[in-house]
Amino acid sequence: MLADGSEVLCVDNFFTGRRMNVAHLMDDPNFELMRHDVTFPLYVEVDEIYNLACPASPVHYQYDPVQTTKTSVHGAINMLGLAKRTGAKILQASTSEVYGDPTVHPQPESYWGNVNPVGSRSCYDEGKRCAETLFFDYHRQHGLEIKVARIFNTYGPRMHPEDGRVVSNFIIQALRNEPITLYGDGSQTRSFCYVDDLIEGFIKLMATPVDFTGPVNLGNPDEFTIRQLAEQVLDLVGGSSQLVERPLPADDPKQRQPDISLARKRLGWEPQYSLEVGLPKSIEYFRSLLKEI
Ligand code: UDP
Ligand code: UDP
Repeated sequence: MLADGSEVLCVDNFFTGRRMNVAHLMDDPNFELMRHDVTFPLYVEVDEIYNLACPASPVHYQYDPVQTTKTSVHGAINMLGLAKRTGAKILQASTSEVYGDPTVHPQPESYWGNVNPVGSRSCYDEGKRCAETLFFDYHRQHGLEIKVARIFNTYGPRMHPEDGRVVSNFIIQALRNEPITLYGDGSQTRSFCYVDDLIEGFIKLMATPVDFTGPVNLGNPDEFTIRQLAEQVLDLVGGSSQLVERPLPADDPKQRQPDISLARKRLGWEPQYSLEVGLPKSIEYFRSLLKEI
């Protein structure tokens, strides 16, 4: 966005984000960094809002589940209030978790999901579902221009080393020659999107005509078992790590793959980075990060 000549105000409470990730932008006069929590009102002047606020890794969003729901729900209300006052277009980073443990495969946007409302993942899933509801009600009731993206598993450089999600865990374990922790038997599936592809999808979604609100799936449709991912990481990193099985967390979805027909049609978007290309870039990042620690 900065390269395109935009002024960027980056808002973060740094619960999981890190200043290091934007350190290279700090000298740009068009960039401003603000420590703020979206559960509190924010009065600034903007034309476009990308609302990505909320920890997204199970270990982080389950640390303080009440705060997680507040971040999605109060955060959405405040950002929608900001969009309403300023007339800004607003994009919501929603999630494949709105589909829960899906009984339809792959998941199209029309699928309403299979979500447990009272489980340990519910603070995230239901918070994000309620945020989608708020977006569509502000759209219908107040005429806001909204864009809702449902993000599937994403990975890449600048992930937190303690993120806790599967790609970063496996890479760091392999780099340290520690056991690779498969939760369950590793037969559950996910589809992994490289971060640059996802960002490209956001920018294209924001630029769609006013009548296009989404929700639209953004993710890579190449589906792998978690065991296959572990083997691929081991192949690339080398080292002496062994695969070990650990208990499967509650409500862990058994399968997940985006149907991206809508994104292909309306955004002219599809992922360019396969795991073979994205994993080495991520491994390189974590390798240099571990040298610094
Ligand atoms: N809000 C904000 N920034 C603004 C305008 C509103 O953070 O520039 C917050 C404000 O705290 C409010 C919420 O967004 O509680 C929702 O605003 P809205 O105008 O929809 O509701 P109201 O103020 O009428 O409750
Ligand atoms: N997982 C795993 N080992 C890990 C971390 C995660 O086997 O060290 C599994 C997890 O149980 C899930 C999948 O990998 O089935 C993806 O987990 P992640 O937390 O990355 O994201 P999710 O898709 O569950 O939100």
